[in-house]
Amino acid sequence: MNLNSPRGTADVFGRDLEYRNYIIGESRKLFKLFNYEQLITPTFEYSEVFQRSIGQSTDIVQKEMYTFEDKKGRSVTLRPEGTASVVRAVIENKLYAQNLPLKVFYKGSMFRYERPQKGRMREFYQLGVEVLGSDNPLIDAEVIWLANLLFSQLGFKDLNLLINSIGCLDCRLDYMNLFRAAVKPKLKNFCKDCQQRFEKNPLRIFDCKNSQCIEQLENSPKIADNLCSSCQEHLGKVTGYLEQLNINFKLEPTLVRGFDYYTGTIFELTSGQLDSAQNALGGGGRYDNLVGQMGGPNLPAIGFAIGVDRTIILMKQLGIKPVLQKQSPKIYIAAMSDEFSSFVLNLLSCLRNYFTCDTNFNIKNIGKEIKWAQKNDFDFVIIIGEEEFRQNQVTIKDLRKYQQYECSWKDEKEKIIELLRGNK
Ligand code: AMP
Repeated sequence: MNLNSPRGTADVFGRDLEYRNYIIGESRKLFKLFNYEQLITPTFEYSEVFQRSIGQSTDIVQKEMYTFEDKKGRSVTLRPEGTASVVRAVIENKLYAQNLPLKVFYKGSMFRYERPQKGRMREFYQLGVEVLGSDNPLIDAEVIWLANLLFSQLGFKDLNLLINSIGCLDCRLDYMNLFRAAVKPKLKNFCKDCQQRFEKNPLRIFDCKNSQCIEQLENSPKIADNLCSSCQEHLGKVTGYLEQLNINFKLEPTLVRGFDYYTGTIFELTSGQLDSAQNALGGGGRYDNLVGQMGGPNLPAIGFAIGVDRTIILMKQLGIKPVLQKQSPKIYIAAMSDEFSSFVLNLLSCLRNYFTCDTNFNIKNIGKEIKWAQKNDFDFVIIIGEEEFRQNQVTIKDLRKYQQYECSWKDEKEKIIELLRGNK
């Protein structure tokens, strides 16, 4: 009789639970500041949900899923990750039938039948966000910013933020042909797994940890050098916004991810202080075709997930301890054109140090936006029109006192912050 917890699982209590709750608490605050709403999905789904989304040829679907038949003979699977369930829930509940983008976060246990070791469990805890309904590169920057900020808020200083683009379906197809042609003559030098990947999913070869395979790949063509002009432009805007936000990152042309649904921007946060096989703390990317592929409307989307267990291991290793923080008002920035995105990003990057802030990524109708902001409990709307943009100023509407102010963003930042705090 075996009455111990199953291999690769853990009971969480005491100090570890304090760490977990602290990370959840800090992430909740940040998700709120960035205006993300929680979505809770079931812990298990019909197996097709994961098979169709993650991809038949991935390690997860091939070897790692906890799949079983229920009493009626239906195949169900404990979720190995969060995105597929969120997409299924968004489609099933028609959550896309509201102002887009839809910004949600989730948290909970994930299950993968992997070989357990430090930082690699069979049941592990993830926090993640998904944004559905916008292909604006500003969203990519926001999502990467959020993941990065979460770790710096927790007290990490030296994480590596790696970024790549794996292209859209069009440029990736051309690239695959190029890559296959380059690798084929030396295929026998790759490990057995990579030889199989070559047939089914060549990009995954870049994820192999085998030093001989890594060496063989050194001079092979990289997807980042073979992007179409629109994917190139998108990546350029994303990295431009990140530079504007003073976020350190490294373009990593060999970065790939373990799921088939990714398109375009992908990223990962790693630590040099963790063992290289488990050095990723979190990662994510765009999946612009997944919602359509799963039977929903064609909604471009992006998300990330971070691993809480690994984050705790590293926090302890670096001597980072949980600390406490406090609440703030809600500010909505309504820009009248995409041309003002850099100005908006400046405002967000300053005001999010103090307040819950969001902006309009899609609609540009001021009346609708103010109504929406009122309905969604924002305290202030900051309007950026042509005039404001040109003069580097802001028009602030106080939604509680029905008053309006015009201030210079350049010269009166402190006054603006006091005003938004309600201490005019
Ligand atoms: P993924 O969903 O594979 O992109 O993983 C996102 C993050 O979840 C990783 O960066 C890890 O921090 C964490 N993670 C993934 N698999 C495991 C596992 N088996 N055990 C512990 N953490 C994991």
